[in-house]
Formats: sequence, structure tokens, C-alpha cells
Amino acid sequence: MNYASTRNSALKTTSAHAIVKGLSDEGGLFVPESIPKLTKEEILALCDKSYVDRAFDVFSKFLTDFTPEELRLCVEGAYNDKNFDTNNIAEIAKLKEGRYILELWHGPTCAFKDMALQILPYLLTTSAKKTVDGKHISILVATSGDTGKAALEGFKDVAGTSISVFYPEEGVSPMQKRQMTTQEGNNVNVCAVKGNFDDCQNGVKAIFTDKGIEEKLAEKNILLSSANSINWGRLAPQIIYYVSTYAQLIKDKEIEYGEKVNIVVPTGNFGNILAAYYAKLMGIPVNKLICASNANNVLTDFINTGVYDRNRQFYTTISPSMDILISSNLERLLYHLTGENDKLINEWFGKLKTDGKYEVNDEVKSKLKELFWAGCCNDDETKAEIRKTYEEEHYLLDTHSAVAVKVYDDYRKVTGDTTKTIIASTANPYKFGRAVFDAVDGGSQPEDEFDLIAKLEKATGTKMPAPLAATQNKPVRFKEVVEKQEMGNVVLNFLSK
Ligand SMILES: *Cc1c(COP(=O)(O)O)cnc(C)c1O
Repeated sequence: MNYASTRNSALKTTSAHAIVKGLSDEGGLFVPESIPKLTKEEILALCDKSYVDRAFDVFSKFLTDFTPEELRLCVEGAYNDKNFDTNNIAEIAKLKEGRYILELWHGPTCAFKDMALQILPYLLTTSAKKTVDGKHISILVATSGDTGKAALEGFKDVAGTSISVFYPEEGVSPMQKRQMTTQEGNNVNVCAVKGNFDDCQNGVKAIFTDKGIEEKLAEKNILLSSANSINWGRLAPQIIYYVSTYAQLIKDKEIEYGEKVNIVVPTGNFGNILAAYYAKLMGIPVNKLICASNANNVLTDFINTGVYDRNRQFYTTISPSMDILISSNLERLLYHLTGENDKLINEWFGKLKTDGKYEVNDEVKSKLKELFWAGCCNDDETKAEIRKTYEEEHYLLDTHSAVAVKVYDDYRKVTGDTTKTIIASTANPYKFGRAVFDAVDGGSQPEDEFDLIAKLEKATGTKMPAPLAATQNKPVRFKEVVEKQEMGNVVLNFLSK
């Protein structure tokens, strides 16, 4: 299996190379040149396997340059009950009306990013051995909250690597900030930036393309790399939980083999829903992929009209991990939908860069309509959904998952479709305790985060997960706050230690 680039379909490279590089030289994203299929026998065989074995089988089809022994080490190192609070790795909660909440937040940071970032360090270090053996790999991350913490947990104390995380000083939830600033490990650095997420992201991009920094690091045998969701090593692990969930629902006798399901995904950078699309291409019978957005509804408009237009107001919402106007992974979808037409991709994404806007052709518009349904909701609707689901089913949703449930409600009303539906739940509600408390209780909120959490526990009879509770007594290790221009020096100082 080779990988091409969305902006150069003639390029051919291995998965190891794609994972180490992250982004192709001409700016494209790495994509598999064909999507491997799962036969009926293979899907049925998955039903009786553990998550680790299901992951092994799916990875074997995509990462063909990894030996079986290497892949075993990767999947067993990541998906175990030391890192996750359940051996099932992902859990399925059944709600009424054929809805299955796929809980992707049982990992060490309580957000779905763990599903990929627990295994990325293994995939990356294995890939580096094959391609750039002996180099120290230093990961740079700009985060709006969840990715940073998940990457820190994944890479902490991994030999041959180090990691620097930058977050917007005012742009993350109090719990997210606590999680990052109390991070343990001897190869980690965390720094707040005076600015917003875009400033952090631009700062990181500037470091990647700074020749001076590159030379200084090369002298020390250090190579910079990214743990961002454009890396194929983050996308591939996300395909697994959709395949695994389908097998599990057959095993639990909730569906029969061949029965179609809908998949709803609260979407930001389009990585998670793209993985569901890949699962469909592999042979998982998917009816509709439902793309749920918050007030930043650029994807809703795109799927409904074929026009992508980022020239619009940016909203800060209670589902901050979806506050995004440029969904990078959409480029991969469009590459596939155009029949791997790199010329069109270059044209459209060139326009996005210069005009902030592009329009796809009629063929792609009709394919989008056939595959997807898209909707969005605002913060009030999100809170109303949290309250409703809690009151009717005693199930507590976080602010992102609630967007998905609400958009699915709308889908069902508009279409009348009663196909059984998997709804991706991307974070534990205690990561966004204030908005969740406001939704279910609405009472006054103590200033201290842990006092608030105690109130939320009491009001709902639920419990904060252990990894979040543990941050209460950990010392704050990282207090540095810098101007965005100083980010390069922060990295150089950290790596000169
Ligand atoms: C990252 C994130 C999302 C968005 O996922 P994408 O793959 O970027 O679309 C949604 N919810 C939560 C909680 C997240 O952390």
C-alpha cells in the first residue's frame, strides 16, 4: 500500500514516510492510494475479537510497511487498561430510538483525541526507525485544549522524542488548562501564548518553516514533527473505532450483518468524520454520515451548497474544540470525491488561500449530498439538548456530543429516517463542567473548578473521571506566558536543555 499526496497524485511513498513527514512537501496531505476492503468473513471475524486485535487487523491493511511484530507492539502499547479505564477502549451507551452513543473518551485525557494520540508515538517512533533512524523527534503542537493534553500524555517520557505545546492564554477551559499545566514527564514543555488559537497555530507553522531554527536543531540531530490531525498517523487509528463499533453492535445483537447505520460526528477539523467515511469505503454499511457543527457552521453551508467560504464571523462557543473555520481534512475527502484529481485540489485550495473561498463542481456537489447530511446548532440549543437528554434518559452529554445529538434530532425530524444511528461522543462532560452544570442545573457557580465539579456530581449523581480528579493535587509545573513572536525561542530554549 502506497500513499500519494492530495496535491500530487503521482507521488508514491510508504506509510512510515507519510507519518514522519506529516505534510507533503508541496503542501498536500498524504492519502492511501486505494482503500482496502473488509470482506463479510473479515467483519464477522472481528465480532469476537478484542479492540487490540480489531486494531491490529485494520492497521495491517493500511500500514503494510510495518511488520506484524511492530504493529503488535504499537497496538498493545496503546490500547490497554493502563491507558484506558475500560478494556473495551471505547464504550457504547444505548439511548432510545435506535441511538448508540459511542464514548470515545475513556482514555487518559477524557477526550476522543486519545484514541489516536495514545498510539501515534508508537507509530511515529517505529516509522522514524525505518526512515530517519537515530534522530531525536521533537513534536510541536498548537492546541485549543484537547489535542495538547492528549499529545502530552501520549509522548511523555517516550524515548527519542520530546514535545512542546502552545495554548492560547484565555482560550481553553479551566480544566483543560489544569490538565496541561500539571503535566508530568521529563521531555515535555507547555507554554501559554498571549493571543488566540490562530496565533498559536501560525506561530507553530512559522517555526516549522524557519530555516534558522531548522539548522540549529539539525546540528543537534533534532527533527521537528507534528501531532496535528493532518498526520496520517492520527487519522488511521480513528477508522478503527468505527469498524470496531459495527462489529460490536453485531456481537451485541443490536444489528445484523449488512444492516446500514448512520454515523453522526461533532465536527471541527473534519478528521473524525473523514475516518467514518474511510470505514464506509472499507465496507462498513453506512447510510448517511451526519456532520454536526456549532455556530461556526462553515461545513453545514459547504455540504448544503458546495461553496466553502471562510469569510465569516468567528464565534467562541461552549464547544470550543469545534470552533474552527478551516477544516483541513476536508482536502482529503475532496481528493477522493474528484477521483483523485490533484489539479482541482490545487485550484480549490489555492483559492481558499487567496480568497478564503472556493466552489466545488456539480459532480462533487451531488456526491456530497448523497453521502452526507449536515446541520448546526447554537449554544442555547446545545444546552437544551444536554438538559433534555439528562432529564429523559439520565445520560450526561458534554457540549460537543450534545451538538451531535441535537443535529441528529433535526435530521430525524426532517427526513423521517429511522435507521439505527451511531453518535460519536468526543469528550467527557466534566471537561466542560461549567456549561454542563449551567445546562442541567442553572444554579450559581462557585469560582473554584473543583467546587463546581462537586456541585455537578451532586446535581447529577455522576462522577468526575479519575484522570481529571487527579489534577487537583498535582503541582502546576508550567507557568510561562509569552508573546506570539517569542514562541521560536521557547522551543530553542527547551531543546537546548
Ligand atoms: C477535536 C474535537 C472535535 C473535532 O474533531 P475533528 O476531528 O477535528 O473534526 C470534537 N469534539 C471534541 C471534544 C474534540 O476534542
